[in-house]
Amino acid sequence: MAARSHESYEKRELVKHLIASIPCAVCQHYHEPDNVRIVERHGEIWIMAVKCDHCGTQSLVFAVIQEGEKPEIVHELTSQEWARFREMPRIDADDLLDVHEFLRDFDGDFVGLFGGSRVLEF
Ligand SMILES: [Zn+2]
Repeated sequence: MAARSHESYEKRELVKHLIASIPCAVCQHYHEPDNVRIVERHGEIWIMAVKCDHCGTQSLVFAVIQEGEKPEIVHELTSQEWARFREMPRIDADDLLDVHEFLRDFDGDFVGLFGGSRVLEF
């Protein structure tokens, strides 16, 4: 599941470094850019999977990246939510397929989707 080839290497690296600036929701250690994997790009919406070097937690990160503007990062879980979800099974290919299918019809309304979840701006 490689990143789309038309996206420049520089842009992908920039996005990875951006995601790496978000601390792990569980242990608060910062992620390594090399641990960020671009799963899907749907227009301005990028979905990345990141694995924490320190505690091994995997998470999905949604980012809205528009040309010429500061990216908006939407992390799907708060620490409190993690406490509830950390016992659930690991993210697998079926989950990523679900996300892919979901995004085909997604209208970009992250506020509605996440019900006012934490939104980080850089
Ligand atoms: Zn961690």
